[in-house]
Amino acid sequence: MGLTGIQIFKMLPKTNCGECSVPTCLAFAMNLASGKAELDACPYVSDEAREKLAEASAPPIRPVAIGAGTRAFKVGGETVMFRHEKTFFNPTGLAALVPSDMDTAILDKKLKEWNALQYERVGLNLRPELIALKDVNGDSGAFGAAAGKIAKESEFGLVLMTENLDVMKAGVEASAFKKPLLYAATADNADEMGALAKESGLPLAIKADNIDGLIALSDKLTGMGLKDLVLDSGAREIKQLFQDQVAIRRAALKAGNRALGFPTITFPCEMASNIDAETLIASMLIAKYAGIAVLSDFKGENIFPLLLERLNIYTDPQRPMTVTEGIYEIGTPDENSPVLITTNFSLTYFIVSGEIEGSRVSSWLLVKDTEGLSVMTAWAAGKFAGDEVGMFVKKSGIADKVSHKKVIIPGYAASISGEMEEELPGWEIMIGPRDAALIPKFLKDM
Ligand code: SF4
Repeated sequence: MGLTGIQIFKMLPKTNCGECSVPTCLAFAMNLASGKAELDACPYVSDEAREKLAEASAPPIRPVAIGAGTRAFKVGGETVMFRHEKTFFNPTGLAALVPSDMDTAILDKKLKEWNALQYERVGLNLRPELIALKDVNGDSGAFGAAAGKIAKESEFGLVLMTENLDVMKAGVEASAFKKPLLYAATADNADEMGALAKESGLPLAIKADNIDGLIALSDKLTGMGLKDLVLDSGAREIKQLFQDQVAIRRAALKAGNRALGFPTITFPCEMASNIDAETLIASMLIAKYAGIAVLSDFKGENIFPLLLERLNIYTDPQRPMTVTEGIYEIGTPDENSPVLITTNFSLTYFIVSGEIEGSRVSSWLLVKDTEGLSVMTAWAAGKFAGDEVGMFVKKSGIADKVSHKKVIIPGYAASISGEMEEELPGWEIMIGPRDAALIPKFLKDM
């Protein structure tokens, strides 16, 4: 169990110096107890107190790093049951299953196809992270070769799936540099798998038949000195799996159960007979509360909605989603193309850019940073005022890209046109439509 705020306060220096960004040691202690502050924020904690406080300030669900390189990611590290309480931090990792006897040519084709499944949204690259290599015949040579191939020839991280120690060793030897997750330690092999994970410094998944079994295995492996664990309660039926995910999260966060304070791994691929049903199960698990979801395949029409759902669930609800300020090319604009301006609230950007794209009139879209506010809200808050917008147009560099001096502003911000004209002498400020749906007609009529 973690310490209470008062217990933590007794171990702090009590000088109320404020260097930790809150005015008093008591306030800092309370924040530390509720997971809202990091112990390192106070430079004056004694070594003795630091040691004692380490457990209290450790996240209730341990963050576990998997993979290396561009698709490395973390799971766990969550501090709330519901995202509106604060935010969810580390998105569910998405994996595709590869049997160890897959033909090399087919694996090559899959790797190429899966690697291409990358989508740009709000300045982010959305893509799956993992391949789960499953031992299907106990052939350690084939398992090691496939693990090495995936590790060396793709960006994907790996889950090495076997309960056979020799097969696992072959996989580890071939792919340890990619920091794979070892799946799984069970009641039968926990000593050997635990020793291998410890020796190789790799995260280890543990599989049991139920939550009690998980607790026993987790205690045993942490007792062996292992820190990075991932949990599989063994459930392969939707209702039971859902209950297990909630129970594990609740036990870690609300009851301070350290044995269950780890991210989970789940297997929609073992729970449905087709990829669409798997996708539905995975969508439930992204919301509650899988660390990793393993699918039987990645198909564009399945992985794309999951990536978008994941993006939405794991964005901070207290901060509006934004796009980066700058000049965006819609289509293939040239010096004669229209110039439009809008705000950096991502939904506004998507709607406006989508309508411009739909018009088939290649255009330049200027996106001004309004701290994620939509046009009307930004205007009302003084973040889309005429002088500021005019200044932004000047500094944006758009004048070097076009041979005309016309800029289209949103209809809802028509009142800023006068100030903009003062800031941009020689420019024509055109009032665009209020409704984004009318942008295509507006552009075609120009
Ligand atoms: Fe207290 Fe440390 Fe914060 Fe200073 S920095 S107020 S000593 S907790």
